[in-house]
This record gives sequence, C-alpha cells and structure tokens, in this order.
Amino acid sequence: MDANENSFGSPLLDDGLSLHRYPDPKQHKLREKFAEYRGVKPDQVFVGVGSDEAIDLIIRIFCTPGKDEIIVCPPTYGMYEVAAQTNDVAVKKAPLTEHFQPDVEAIEAVTTDQSKILFLCSPNNPTGNDLDSDIMESIIRDFPGIVVVDEAYIDFTNQPSFAASVEKYPNLVVTQTFSKAFGLAGARVGIAIASQLITGYLLKIKSPYNLSSIAQNEALKALEQRNIVEENIDNILRERRFLRDTLEQNELVYNVFPSDANFLLFQIEDAKAFYQFSVSKGVICRYRGNEKGCENGIRVTVGTRAENELFLKVLEQWTTITS
Ligand SMILES: *Cc1c(COP(=O)(O)O)cnc(C)c1O
Repeated sequence: MDANENSFGSPLLDDGLSLHRYPDPKQHKLREKFAEYRGVKPDQVFVGVGSDEAIDLIIRIFCTPGKDEIIVCPPTYGMYEVAAQTNDVAVKKAPLTEHFQPDVEAIEAVTTDQSKILFLCSPNNPTGNDLDSDIMESIIRDFPGIVVVDEAYIDFTNQPSFAASVEKYPNLVVTQTFSKAFGLAGARVGIAIASQLITGYLLKIKSPYNLSSIAQNEALKALEQRNIVEENIDNILRERRFLRDTLEQNELVYNVFPSDANFLLFQIEDAKAFYQFSVSKGVICRYRGNEKGCENGIRVTVGTRAENELFLKVLEQWTTITS
C-alpha cells in the first residue's frame, strides 16, 4: 500500500502481468535471463527504453555539459551525436578509413583531456561491415575514457561479441538491442553491458520505471523463442544474398559494400534521384550519399522476399527510364 496503484485491477485482461502494479524497476528477471543468454553476470546488464536510452544515459554519466566531448567515427550511427548535442556535449570526429575501419591515429589526434567517451559501432551502421576486433581491442585498451561498442547488429555477423570483455576492461560498455535480430523494435528494449560499477550508475540515474511490464515481458518471451529468432536470422542472411546478387547485376549500381548486418549499402549513379523515384513509388530506403566515403550511397534494409522483389522492381523501372 505504498504506491497509490489501483488495487481493484486494470480494466484489461492482462495475461497475469498485473498491469495495475508498477513494473519491477530493476528488471531482475529480464536482466538475469539476458545475462545467461550472453554469458555475463546479471549485475553487468542494464536494460533501457531502446539502446538509445543507454547511449543518452552514458553521456549524462560521464560528460559535463558545456565542457566535455565525445568522439565518433563517421560514417556511423547518428544517435551518438544527437544525444551529445541534446546534452550540450561537444562532438569530435575521427572518420573511419577508406575501408571503414577505425583510424587509430585520427582518434589519437582528436583526443583531449575532455574526451570522455568514444563510440564504435560494429557491425557499423550505415556501412554494414564489422570493425576489426584487434583494432577495437587496442583502442579499448589505450583510450583514456569510456569506449562504447554498439553491437545492435551483432546477431547478423560471425564476429564474436565484446560482451564478455567487460570483465577485463572497466572502461568498456557494450550496447545491444531487441530491435533488430529479436524483431521487437516496437517494444523499445535496449541493453548496455558493462562493469557493475557502470551499470550501478545507469540504474541510479534512469527514471525508476523506465521499462513497462509489457516490454519486459515481451523481451523475456522473445528470449525463450530462440529457435524462431535463429530462423528469422537465417532468412535475413539468405535474403541479403539474394538482394546483393540482384543489385550487383544492375547496370546503374557500381558497388555493393560487404555487409555483416541486416542491410546493404550500395552505390548507384545519381542516387538522390533514384531515392526520390523510389519514394514516389511507395518504397522508402535511406539515402546516405552525404556521408564520407558513401557518395551515391543508398542503404536498404533486407526485407522479406516480397519486399525485396518490390524494391528491385522499382530499381528495374528506374533503370529502364534512365537508360
Ligand atoms: C538500430 C540501431 C540501434 C537500436 O536502437 P534502439 O534504440 O535499441 O532501437 C542502435 N544502434 C545502432 C547502430 C542501430 O543501427
């Protein structure tokens, strides 16, 4: 009788979720199951409203607004910069090399006493490739601040996760998500794996009931449906090959980058115009041509066979019109 909930219950049939009660603020069950699944300890796991919440909180923990800075390695995920800016934290850039690998010298060149966090994304969005594990490990070892390794796409690659390395590197934070391989983007469940000290800070500053009982329960159920998740991953990898093979045969497409994720980045003549054409046909991909090293770049998510065929049909129409 401490939280002024409605003891008479919710008006919904809630599958035993007790929706009239506030959710477990520390998400004990989900953290335990996720830790077991990734081979880490429950107190090394933080659960947020998407990994976007974890990214925002990590910046708020380690950076003083108006004073500190983060380092990002473009072309990469845009949320690191957005989260820094909304917290009045400056952003330094150390672009990836031409093969989209971390540039250790460029990172060192922009690192100052104010550089508190470095973000690496592997497999990287929007380029799709794995970052080299040895290079990442040397950066984690040498960087004088927190290194966040964003593993949103880790289930689509053969490269091992850095999750277990939080035991060895106290400055490492690994973020993962239920939004991609687990297919729960609508539930908003993200993960940060880090030392108990860091997850303790995360738990302390998050809003108490950040994750609803519904979201916690859906994530738990998804963890129990591993065979379906694995099957979906297999289907995505098969469709990725199909999409790549067909794209490579198109006369306007002059490069399809290697991908270890659930999307492909490719280069096509006059990409902006193709993008606009495809939108006009009701198929929306992502134009990435403004990113360094991605001139004329289009990022397309691997869909079902029907979705992929629709996208390829629009590309075929465009090819006929322009040639
Ligand atoms: C999609 C994506 C995420 C997922 O964010 P959520 O907030 O967990 O949905 C995180 N990082 C990268 C690089 C992504 O592309």
